[in-house]
Formats: sequence, C-alpha cells, structure tokens
Amino acid sequence: MKEACGVFAVFAPGRAVAQLTFDGLYSLQHRGQESAGMAVSDGELITVVKDMGLVSSVFDERTIECLPGNLAIGHTRYSTAGESTWRNAQPVFRSSGGMGIALAHNGNLTNTSDLAEDNGMLPGVLTTDSDLVVELLATAVGRMPPGNNMLEEAMVEVLPRLEGAYSFVAMDESHIFGARDPHGFRPLCLGVLPVDKPVDNGEYVDEGEGVGYVLASETPALDVVGARFIREVEPGEMVVIDDSGVRSVRLPVATGQEPHLCIFEFVYFARPDSMLYGTEVHGARRRMGEYLAAELPVRADMVMGVPDSGVPAAEGYSKASGIPYGQGLVKNRYIGRTFIAPQQEARMAGVKRKLNPLRESILGKRLVVVDDSIVRGTTTKAMVKMLREGGAEEIHLRISSPPFRWPCYFGIDTPDKSELLAANMSVDEIANYLGVDSLAYLSLEGLQKAIGVPGGGFCTACLTGEYPIPVEETALRRDAVLAHSISLQRNTIVVDHVGSI
Ligand code: SF4
Repeated sequence: MKEACGVFAVFAPGRAVAQLTFDGLYSLQHRGQESAGMAVSDGELITVVKDMGLVSSVFDERTIECLPGNLAIGHTRYSTAGESTWRNAQPVFRSSGGMGIALAHNGNLTNTSDLAEDNGMLPGVLTTDSDLVVELLATAVGRMPPGNNMLEEAMVEVLPRLEGAYSFVAMDESHIFGARDPHGFRPLCLGVLPVDKPVDNGEYVDEGEGVGYVLASETPALDVVGARFIREVEPGEMVVIDDSGVRSVRLPVATGQEPHLCIFEFVYFARPDSMLYGTEVHGARRRMGEYLAAELPVRADMVMGVPDSGVPAAEGYSKASGIPYGQGLVKNRYIGRTFIAPQQEARMAGVKRKLNPLRESILGKRLVVVDDSIVRGTTTKAMVKMLREGGAEEIHLRISSPPFRWPCYFGIDTPDKSELLAANMSVDEIANYLGVDSLAYLSLEGLQKAIGVPGGGFCTACLTGEYPIPVEETALRRDAVLAHSISLQRNTIVVDHVGSI
C-alpha cells in the first residue's frame, strides 16, 4: 500500500511563509515522496515551484528566499498508478478571469470520466483528477463577473459535483481555502498561528489582527510551524481564510451522514504523533497490540514489531501478554518508502536493503512478530525468511488489523483484488504461504475499540467490502480506463495515469 498525499496551507499576515510551508511539508513527507511543491502569493502574484523528489531536494535556501509572500499551499505526492511525472506534481495551477488558481489534493475522485464527459472534455482534453478539478474551477471563474470572491463561488459550485475522496487546499492571490468531501475520507485540520509577540502574561496573541492560520493533513505539521490546533475541518465543510480571518462555508452536499475517515490512517498512514478525532495515533496503535494479545494469545519468548508502524502495537502486545518486548529487526532509515520492486526476488533484495535481523536477539527464540497489515504478502514473506535465517525458532505473526480483502478507491494505491492475499486465501493458507508457525488478525471490533473514538465514523471498505459510496467495480475500472485515455490537448502530452492520492 502506498500512502495518501500530504497537503499544507498557511496564511500569515506580515510573514514570509515559504519557510513555514517547507517545514510543514517536511513533516508530511511520509504521506508522499514522489514529488513536492508549493504555491506562494505575495498578494499580487502566485509563484509555483514543484519538482520530483523529496521536499528537501526540491527546495533549498535559495528557492525558499525567492518565494516571497504571506500565503501559500503545498503538497507531497504519491500517484495512484503508473509512471510518476513532473506534469502531475502539485500544486496544480491555472489562470482564469484575471486571477490565479492553485490547488493541492489528497484523495481520489471516483467520477472523473463522468465529470470530463459532462463538461465536454473529450479525449484530448485533460488530465489527473486534481487537474480536472482545477479546470472546472477555472471554467466556473471564467464565467463570473469580476469580484473578490470568485474562487470561493467557484468552489461552492464545483465541489458538490465531485464524488469520492478529497481533502483540498486551494488559493488565489489573497485567499486560502480548505475543503473536505462529505465523507471525510482523508484528514484535514485547522490551526492558528499566534502573532509572534507575547502579551503581558507571557501568552501569545492568537486572535485578532495579524493572526495567521494553517491547514494541514496531520497535526504534526501544525506543531512544527508553531501553530495551535483549533479543530478538524468537518466533512462537507470548506474554510476560507483571508485578511478578515477564518470562516466556515457549508458546502451544498448531502449532510447528516456518518463520517468515514479512512481507518488505515490510524493503523498505518498517519504519523504516530498525529491527533485524529482527538486521539493520538501512537496510543491507538499500542491499544491495537493489547487487544491483539487478548484476542490471540500465544506462548513465546519475545514480542517484536516490524519497523516502524508495527512497533507500537508490539509494545502493546508485550504489555498485555507479559511476554518481553525486544527489537528483532533494524531498519535502514535512508531507504525511502517508495522503493517498489515488481519481481519476487527483487522484493527480497528490497527487504534486505531496508531491514536486517538482530541475530543475537532472535536466535533460538519463539517470536511474536507484530505488523500492521498484509497486502500482497511478498514483503512479509521475505521478512519471515530473513528472521528464520537469522535463527528464530518459531514465528507467530500477529496483524493489528483485519484481513485486507477489497481494493481501495478513495486515495490509497492498493492492488487489484486478484493480488490481495487475503482475498484469495484462508488465514491458514496465508500462514502456510508466508512460512509462519501461526498467523492471526485483530478483529474489526477489536480495532475499533482500540482506536476508541465511539461515533467517530470510519471507512472500513477494504476490510469489509462495505463501501461508503456505492462502487461498481466494473464502473470504476471503466472510469479509470476512460480517464487514462484522456490526454492534454493544450500541449499534447498524453497523461499516463489518473488520480492523485
Ligand atoms: S477502503 Fe480502506 S484504505 Fe481505502 S479509505 Fe477505506 S479504509 Fe482507507
């Protein structure tokens, strides 16, 4: 599985925000490592810089210094499929009606081909789903009489026509926007950037003139720029930030439904220090391990986690079971999460580059190995082989989420059902295939209890097959194929894939 993208936006009167945007994106690097970009406005002109690679390789001091302005949006990207190209890096930018429009997207739309067709975008017109949205916004703005709120009005017109998952940040020369789809699949939070001047009691001013605001996929991006968390942007809500402060606009979309935050944000995607639904992700992951131990006990000498996201659950398993926790694998921190090797042998080599066993620690031991999920199983199989060769006596694999059986259409790059291990094998067959002595998954009920936010509302479609938005697999496949065939008329670049996550 590849993560969702990361989005960030900042409005800070009187401050140069390119450095803040860099810091915010840097803290969201785990959500996308293919490309990074930011759009910065000085009130008159929007400048966009984006490129392939990590945030730290796309931006250096000189680039940051050359981006003056007090409002900005930024993006770190993973693509859903196909080749990763500069053309598809974000923010996406268009000019229309005498103004600039920049947009960054986390999520995946499911009605791209209908939108393209309804708007007369025949093959030879566009783009990725994010590109399509900007084109729709630009068209809407182009029809409007000149005014100060043109992009806001365009967002209110266009967003209700979108289906699927989106957390957007967008901007024109003087406004920042943040919007979440009605299901709230992907996170988006709002923070306040206090004026950099303490008042008498030592506290910082955080409302009134000069106060700035920040939007981010995850709360650590607020922390790193010194912003204080206010709240999550609600599903179906748009926030508008400008000189007069922040205000909320309720999008004319279906409301009253339960939110559907991706449950894998808690299991795997989000940083452990992120707060979602008011709960710290790390604590939830530890509790997943505790529930795993209660539901699926086993006799063993040591509990270890698969670095990094399996570690908190392993700590929880150890605490609840009384089996000592130990480190059994060392991770090479300099390998990016984008490394993808299609062949089985190459995957083994990839795992070896990334992980190495601590042989003295595991030799002759009965191990409980805790990981967050199994998708194709090829990486897990290679990791199990490595532990066996390192001298492990027994390997009992415990997974801190239920079997992953259905593909995701909402912004996570998952393989087809035919490649999902749990969709095609029983638990015993998977254990046999992986070469472990036992295998067990946390129940959905256990996972939800561990997360511990009653009424929070989650998408669990890849675990249950219950998609919050009715999805016809064949229709979605057709959608993808149609969108795939759409190319960019303007400069005749053929777009090689659709979707950004
Ligand atoms: S289908 Fe799975 S990965 Fe996709 S949004 Fe839902 S819970 Fe998350």
